[in-house]
Amino acid sequence: MGSSGPATLNCVKAERFNAIARRPYTKGLPEWEMFPDEESRRKAIEFVERGMTPRSIKGVFQFLLAVAIFLVVPLVVSMLIAAHLLPPMGKWNERIMWGMALTGYTVIVFLAIRRDMPKALRRQLLECGVPVCIRCGYDLRGLPSDRTHCPECGRAFDEQVARLVREGDAGAPPSNETPTAGGPAR
Ligand SMILES: [Zn+2]
Repeated sequence: MGSSGPATLNCVKAERFNAIARRPYTKGLPEWEMFPDEESRRKAIEFVERGMTPRSIKGVFQFLLAVAIFLVVPLVVSMLIAAHLLPPMGKWNERIMWGMALTGYTVIVFLAIRRDMPKALRRQLLECGVPVCIRCGYDLRGLPSDRTHCPECGRAFDEQVARLVREGDAGAPPSNETPTAGGPAR
């Protein structure tokens, strides 16, 4: 019992650190705001992160290949800049070159993850029971259950989305309008 205190505190600290570290990847994304609560948000991002971790030999090779490609482009650009644009500064040319290359690598990795994040979050929203268009991210909550296509982009609902739209129309209370006559009595 005595050891549970500090352990819980460490857990809370780690959780807070994770929340801060993940923020840039989800900040400003409408999908992030659509989760019903903090707990579902945390579970979703943990699932997305697990999906990024290679879990097979093939996965490790693909991961290393991606790292190599992401590193090679900024490295070559930095070498060219250091060799042709910077004045000769001895050791500093090499240091600046590596600084630029690593900064470029970090930016590319960030952009790559951020680019895939909306779609990954949409899949997690569907897992949480929040109907959302997987292609454009349109919030499908409160949509009449007879709809079969996204009103925003026109994509046909797949089975999971169609089921959530049907269930949402029948079960959850609409956010603004009062239920009108004609629906099934519950
Ligand atoms: Zn759509």
